[in-house]
Amino acid sequence: MSGHVQYTLDYALELDKQDELAPYRNEFYIQSGQIYLDGNSLGLLSKRAEKSLLEVLDTWKQNGIDGWTEGDDPWFYLPEALGGKMAPLVGAKAEEVIVTGSTTSNLHQLVATFYQPTKERNKILADDLAFPTDIYALQSQLKLKGYDPDAYLVKAPSVDGHLLNEEDIIAVMNEDVAVIVLPSILYRSGQILDMERLTKEAHKRGILIGFDLCHSIGSIPHQLSDWGVDFAFWCTYKHLNGGPGAVGGLYVNAKHFGRIPGLTGWFGSRKDKQFDMEHQLTPAEHAGAFQMGTPHLLSMAPLIGSLELFNEAGIKKVRKKSIALNEYMQQLIEHELGSYGFELKSPLNSENRGGHLFLVHPEAARICKALKEEQIIPDFRSPNGIRLAPVALYNSYQDVWLTIQKLKEIMKEEKYKKFENKRGVVA
Ligand SMILES: *Cc1c(COP(=O)(O)O)cnc(C)c1O
Repeated sequence: MSGHVQYTLDYALELDKQDELAPYRNEFYIQSGQIYLDGNSLGLLSKRAEKSLLEVLDTWKQNGIDGWTEGDDPWFYLPEALGGKMAPLVGAKAEEVIVTGSTTSNLHQLVATFYQPTKERNKILADDLAFPTDIYALQSQLKLKGYDPDAYLVKAPSVDGHLLNEEDIIAVMNEDVAVIVLPSILYRSGQILDMERLTKEAHKRGILIGFDLCHSIGSIPHQLSDWGVDFAFWCTYKHLNGGPGAVGGLYVNAKHFGRIPGLTGWFGSRKDKQFDMEHQLTPAEHAGAFQMGTPHLLSMAPLIGSLELFNEAGIKKVRKKSIALNEYMQQLIEHELGSYGFELKSPLNSENRGGHLFLVHPEAARICKALKEEQIIPDFRSPNGIRLAPVALYNSYQDVWLTIQKLKEIMKEEKYKKFENKRGVVA
């Protein structure tokens, strides 16, 4: 696209006309007159997700207890079945993925399993820009094993508070590190880390490595199995549109099958053994072993419809359009907003960033309020960041064009000044 961008609405409409994913927009509930650019925080509801949720409710209504084994999607097997449907999105074998828990609880489970400190190797390596819950979980896992988090949680430094250099991470992969946990995509700047390279470097040094895929699942393709990543975990309410609090997912490389989960529960049983009700656990021989209790069916049901959409559209096409939308937005920002004090803190090259752009501005909080008043939904990140996520399955080039026009108007007419420059409780 670069080289011959035009800055007119007609050009945006022409791009929409050529967009083969454009029909998917109708699959989603989009409020009339609204432009939703917050799909990396909470994805929108699709009609298919709504339908699959209602179907699961209906099996409860019709079948009662027999819903566990009857109907189109028997509940007892649903975490495994959905794991299989999610596997192509992370580049894993079906049995390496299970739909269970949440980002935070899955991180606890995986670190409880894979962090087995010895006298020589006992540190956990994360990074300075990690999402807080990841750090809290790592701190408590260290404490549970008797290690002081201040001394045993190592954080790779950031160059500028927005980006990480892979070299700087590799430089702190020391002999005393047992496990590394890093994001696939940084939640603020949207930087993609080179998971393949980091995995190779970790393994060279005998360190296990796992990734938090919250911002990458449903946005970019992965090859976790081929890269040899040891474990990964994610939520499903961002790019996967599973709904608020939707059940998360985790991946364990097949080479680790047979490891006893750090946190065991009866739903980690081999399916044919679970109802023998023995006090000796017989764990499942795949990622299913890492489940704990009864699956949260109603928070899982929307994923049946949502994953169908992704598998139909294909993650490669989703990524291709996402790159095009973000590059288009980047070019419009440079052209239209140059004099208004915004700084783009995402990687400038689209190959190195995920599904959103991160703009920094001293008035960010109230600029976001002004955008919302104009029916454009951005995402404010304290203290001064604005994330804008044009999502491949439901945003258009016209959305992007209108957003940047509105943003320019807000800046030019100083429309943000009537708001307080302060974040809301959830932002
Ligand atoms: C959204 C997000 C989380 C949220 O964790 P939950 O357990 O789902 O609340 C964690 N880590 C990252 C990187 C995120 O982006």
